[in-house]
Amino acid sequence: MCTLHPLDTSLAATQTISVVFRYDDYGNERSLQHETVLREAFAKYDIPATYGIIPYPSIGDVGEPGPHEVRALELSKAELIKDMVQAGKIEAALHGYSHHTRWLWPYSEFAGADITEQRRKITAGKLLLEEMLGVEIVTFIPPWNTYDTDTVRALEDAGFRTLSSGASGPVTPSNLAVLPATCGLGELQSAVEYVRGLDGRGYVIVVLFHAYNFVEVDTKHGTLNYEEFERLLEWVARQPDVSVSTLKQAAGVETGYNMDCLREHGVSRMRPPLLPTPPFVGGDMRPLLYYPADFTQSEYYRG
Ligand SMILES: [Zn+2]
Repeated sequence: MCTLHPLDTSLAATQTISVVFRYDDYGNERSLQHETVLREAFAKYDIPATYGIIPYPSIGDVGEPGPHEVRALELSKAELIKDMVQAGKIEAALHGYSHHTRWLWPYSEFAGADITEQRRKITAGKLLLEEMLGVEIVTFIPPWNTYDTDTVRALEDAGFRTLSSGASGPVTPSNLAVLPATCGLGELQSAVEYVRGLDGRGYVIVVLFHAYNFVEVDTKHGTLNYEEFERLLEWVARQPDVSVSTLKQAAGVETGYNMDCLREHGVSRMRPPLLPTPPFVGGDMRPLLYYPADFTQSEYYRG
């Protein structure tokens, strides 16, 4: 049974809608200039964010299985966000090891891998980020939102406390807090409006986005520009009933974001469990919008 109980009643009582910005694929690929724009935008509106950081980004095509070289996160990328990470404004989450897929389809760096290999990657990645950023890393974001039960075991053993993937599981008994991504930047305002009409407590909107969502980075796949992103942050900052936090912070406010909650509200029970997740699209999370949500009772996507 999924029952949410606030740990910090003062926080939960004053701010009813919790929003988390989850920015994936922070690594060596994007320019320092792009990452600076995002850093400054979050700082300008004093909005926290969780960055999914790739500790040893693969060199080459991450969607092409097989041997590949990796290169540690560039020092300049770590230095750019280090002060905000240490101030708690940016949560540094581990986003895989190299973000290189094991399979052609569905893409995954971890699902299906031997647990020894998973442990090695998780431990090495955590260690590097902790050394570079000077903070403890407690949140894991699996590349392509795919993991297996061995990943969960390896994360527990390595001292992780929060897992953020998509909403399709798998589910296994665990003490990890589980906060799946629920929507993209373009859906955030609708999600907030929708949650306002609900009973109020315990909902979290985890907004997943990537560099390629920005037209300045990717003219083909981008859907908003830097100015529109700033306007969105400004809108969020103006909402009196919205509280923005990192994944780690959100997991610390409520006790009920766990595997039981994912079992009850995840999307896997509503669609074929083996339906692959399209890469770079996050199709498995679209039906959620907010969490925990019972899609079958939601009117939002009907009609
Ligand atoms: Zn990724």
